[in-house]
Amino acid sequence: MSSTQNRSNLVKPSSRLKEGRALALDVWSIFSATNLPADCINLGQGYMNFAPPTWITAAAEDALKSVAPNHYSHPRGRIRLREALKAFYSPQFHRDLDVESEILVTSGANEGQYSVFTAFLEHGDEVIMFEPFFDQYLPSVTFNGGKPVYVPLHPPSFSTIKPTSDDWTIDFDELRAAVTSRTKIIIVNTPHNPVGKVFTKNELEAIAAIAEEFNLLVMADEVYDCLVFDGKEHIRIANLPGMWDRTVTVGSAGKAFAATGWRIGWLIAPPSIIQPTLAASTRIIFCTNSPLQEAAACGLEQAKERHFFEIQRSEYDARRAVLSQTFDALGLKYTLPEGSYFILLDISKVKFPDDYPFPPSVLGRGRDFKACWFIAIEIGVSSIPVSEFYCEEHANIGEAYARFAFCKDLDTLHRAAERFQRLREYIHD
Ligand code: GLN
Repeated sequence: MSSTQNRSNLVKPSSRLKEGRALALDVWSIFSATNLPADCINLGQGYMNFAPPTWITAAAEDALKSVAPNHYSHPRGRIRLREALKAFYSPQFHRDLDVESEILVTSGANEGQYSVFTAFLEHGDEVIMFEPFFDQYLPSVTFNGGKPVYVPLHPPSFSTIKPTSDDWTIDFDELRAAVTSRTKIIIVNTPHNPVGKVFTKNELEAIAAIAEEFNLLVMADEVYDCLVFDGKEHIRIANLPGMWDRTVTVGSAGKAFAATGWRIGWLIAPPSIIQPTLAASTRIIFCTNSPLQEAAACGLEQAKERHFFEIQRSEYDARRAVLSQTFDALGLKYTLPEGSYFILLDISKVKFPDDYPFPPSVLGRGRDFKACWFIAIEIGVSSIPVSEFYCEEHANIGEAYARFAFCKDLDTLHRAAERFQRLREYIHD
């Protein structure tokens, strides 16, 4: 080899990285707190600015001080956590869940979903997802040879004065038209990120009928199941007639216990889905981190007697109110979410100079990327541009929205509310 050879790019990365937008800088990195001024209030990436409850972190500390939980767990997950999941979820699924064959602990919800795709997708199989979709679905599908197929949730019409997430609707003819002989999986995310939509029984029944007719596997991403407001009922598609046999339900300790960095998730499904997924997961990660499984188990074991989820829900309700009242006072339209901890603000009326010094990561992206950057710098509150959750063809729908996360303490949200007052000067019809 000659000494003048350029050694900076000797071995080519796999072409699969080009698919699923894995080579493009992801939105979380662009709008990461480290790229923004230190005093910018972070309502962007959805993680809490508070710790999990101390009675849960104490269980993590105990686990770290003992022997077994510092070592490999069974690939299915630690038995204490599987027992806790069984006790917590069996009544919700109206069945006696089997810890050996119907529950799988995963390294966060993401890895669980990835393993389902590995287990079930043949090259060229199609996966239907509703837009806007959680961005991670896309590479998880394409890395496993799948082809994403998009069906839009239609945004509220202009004439809707006070839209809620229920005003984002599915056109079932469009959904039906999206199904082909290669369709294998449909992802149903309820409560929905980023819209906050809690799918109704009618909607889920219509999806279930299509899944039954075309023999689809349903991936029910229900990681925000503990955050449903306004008395709305969270309905599990797995509980609809016949649907248990074809549905895998995805859960997350990160969302449930304010521990998004723990990467503890779980899948609940019949053995016909769990067994192949376990086979994939065992060879991808072997097992999930052990001590934090003990802590998640403790959370589930004690949640009922502590009324943990009821209290947490009312805390989130108050957090949601701070942002919704702020946007109301500013006269800006937003989607009131019935679930999850995200609120979509319509930013069409927020005007900013075209020649504003945007960084290269934002230039060339949709108007929402620029608006979110401008709001982060000038107002001091960060958010996530919603076009990232759409395929290129439909990105213009998402460009009208910025997503603000309200999984932050009240004090922080009140400070954000004060800063939002400065947005007035940039609002123009
Ligand atoms: N689920 C979180 C969100 O939507 C974080 C996702 C991520 O960082 N990959 O904000």
